[in-house]
Parts: sequence; C-alpha cells; structure tokens
Amino acid sequence: MLMVIHAASSAWVGELSSSALSAFVICFILHFILDFIPHGDHNMVANYQHKEKLRRVYTFLTADLITTLLFLFSIEIFDIGTDKRIIFAAILGGLLPDLLVSFYKLTKVRFLKKFHDFHFFIHNFLPEKKHKTIRLSHALVLQGLLFLFLLKVIV
Ligand SMILES: [Zn+2]
Repeated sequence: MLMVIHAASSAWVGELSSSALSAFVICFILHFILDFIPHGDHNMVANYQHKEKLRRVYTFLTADLITTLLFLFSIEIFDIGTDKRIIFAAILGGLLPDLLVSFYKLTKVRFLKKFHDFHFFIHNFLPEKKHKTIRLSHALVLQGLLFLFLLKVIV
C-alpha cells in the first residue's frame, strides 16, 4: 500500500481518536490490515531483489515519499480542529511498520528480521499473480481515489 494511503488513513483515525497512544496502536495494526489487501505491488517488492530494476523501485518510492511529505505538510498548515499531536501519533503508528522494514533492508539488524518477515507474510498472504487480483496501474488509480476521499473527510 502506498505510504501516503497509510498516512492519510492514519490521519483520519487520529482525527477520530481521543488519545495519542490508542491512535498510534490502532494505526500500527491498521497498517497490516491495509497491507493485507492486494494492491498490485508484488512485482515492485520482487524488484528489490534485482539491481537493474532498483531505479524504478526508488523512483516509485521517492514519488510516494514526496506525496506523503506534502500531505504531512498540509496537515501542519490546515486547521483541522483536532489535536495535531494525536494525528501525528496516529500517522507515526501507521508508517512505522514500513519504516522498520526499510530500516531492516538497509541495515540487516537481526532484531528486526522477524518483524520484516511478519510484515511480508501479511503483505504477500494473498498472492496477486496466482489469484490475478489487481494490476499495479489499477491499484494506483484506486489508491488515488481513496486518497482524495480521505483528504475530503480529513480537511
Ligand atoms: Zn507495509
């Protein structure tokens, strides 16, 4: 799932929450629920293994990161009527699983291996190719629409 979808859905949960801790925990769990839904990026994950395809992966991730940062910046600018500490705790909870996985991929620190494996066990639980669930291009359009919906309910 796109990072910006994790951030936006977490911001929505944060807006509905009364405590930063509960928002953080709920969004940490929500991350896995969203990743469980097939979203067309299995090839993207597989491309991590091929150096010649890494450029494409990094371009995709950079675009997602920039969109996410713009989203976070927009939350800071707009008065959305909710305690922003709760919203940012929610977003941190929603993004933390992917941040930990990325940290593991960069450092290979042993204590995160089980977490990394669990994340991809959930992420790849419903194999996309075998079930022909969804293409990346279709998934990106759906995620774009979901993002617009989340923006509408958040702001
Ligand atoms: Zn994830």
